[in-house]
Amino acid sequence: MMERLLTVTGPDLGRHLTRHGELPLRGPARPGSLGPLADEIAAAGLRGRGGGWFPTARKLAAVAAAAGSRPPVVVVNAMEGEPLSAKDARLLTVAPHLVLDGAALAAETIGADRVILAVPVGGLGPMLRGVVTERARRGIDPVSVEVVEGPDRFLSGQESALVRWIGGGPAIPTAKRPFEQGVGGRATLGSNAETFAHLALIARHGASWFRSVGTAEAPGTMLVSVSDPDIRVLEVPVGTPVGAVTGPAPAILLGGYGGAWLPGDQARELPLAPEPLQAAGATLGAGIVSALPYGACGLRRTAAIAGWMAGQGARQCGPCLFGLPAVAGDLALLADGRATRTDVDRLCARTGLLPGRGGCAHPDGVARLVGGALRVFGDEVEAHLHGHCVETLTYRRAS
Ligand code: SF4
Repeated sequence: MMERLLTVTGPDLGRHLTRHGELPLRGPARPGSLGPLADEIAAAGLRGRGGGWFPTARKLAAVAAAAGSRPPVVVVNAMEGEPLSAKDARLLTVAPHLVLDGAALAAETIGADRVILAVPVGGLGPMLRGVVTERARRGIDPVSVEVVEGPDRFLSGQESALVRWIGGGPAIPTAKRPFEQGVGGRATLGSNAETFAHLALIARHGASWFRSVGTAEAPGTMLVSVSDPDIRVLEVPVGTPVGAVTGPAPAILLGGYGGAWLPGDQARELPLAPEPLQAAGATLGAGIVSALPYGACGLRRTAAIAGWMAGQGARQCGPCLFGLPAVAGDLALLADGRATRTDVDRLCARTGLLPGRGGCAHPDGVARLVGGALRVFGDEVEAHLHGHCVETLTYRRAS
């Protein structure tokens, strides 16, 4: 484990300045070009930690290029709609100033005049408003900063949904690309809170320091939310084996509710890095590792998640209106031991129809989750077709 981001300073600005020093502003961007920090971010190879792992330097350049004559906006996405993720809340609790430093530096780099920090309602909003007020009183940030509290739903953290909600609309995805047409119609840089915290450290310690851990393709450390079953947040170098953060398990869910199950022994050998996990049929996403307890039924767990995900869809497109509820219903039938082989064939066919047909990747995530579960829990599928379930069997033995 490492502690670059998770060194506790809390909301106290003095503790933060003692630990990390002053905000290292480099000077504003000139019209039509990026600020001086852009080259350091590109050399560091920083990639977004919200799940997409997109190169941050390319995103900065795209927003700056799309901005035109109106200054862009920076949105710090800490909505964390994924129930198995706790990293944004943990990071903002232990190091809120580091996140805001990174947002201010990103704003300076692209010439933005406004930073919006978005968190779920009912959480850290009041504490963060205090932090922002104290920074304003001390004149830390070169731009205006505000905290908004959005609806605590799975899709609220989707970038276009969040930008739409900030603009006064519903928190559901839109086809508009935020980097071109975001908050108030302005080009908008939306990135995960962790990405900004890394950016703040790169500005202080440089690209070589950042690259001294992690992999060549994905340098640095990352925050991982591990549930086995209680959720813990760890900071590890990218590329750390899954087995270093969680113990033996019959199966491990990687990438969260839109991720994929892998057999436990296989998963524990894999590195926590985006490309290797993708090659194995899983996804790193926002760094979620969830171990299935021994004695628990993976099909029942997956059916519960699929049912929840079907309820989170925005119901704008066909897959959300019809596909997700149908798949969730079929899987619930199987998990309850009431499905026939014909039902399972229909479930496989319906799952195969989900990817690539929605306005966003929400249905694709459910297809990956359910398709992977049917493969990894193949023995359980057969057992359920014969009325047996490892979990309910355990209950029967216990009674
Ligand atoms: S697939 Fe679902 S969540 Fe995505 S845009 Fe369409 S209705 Fe919205």
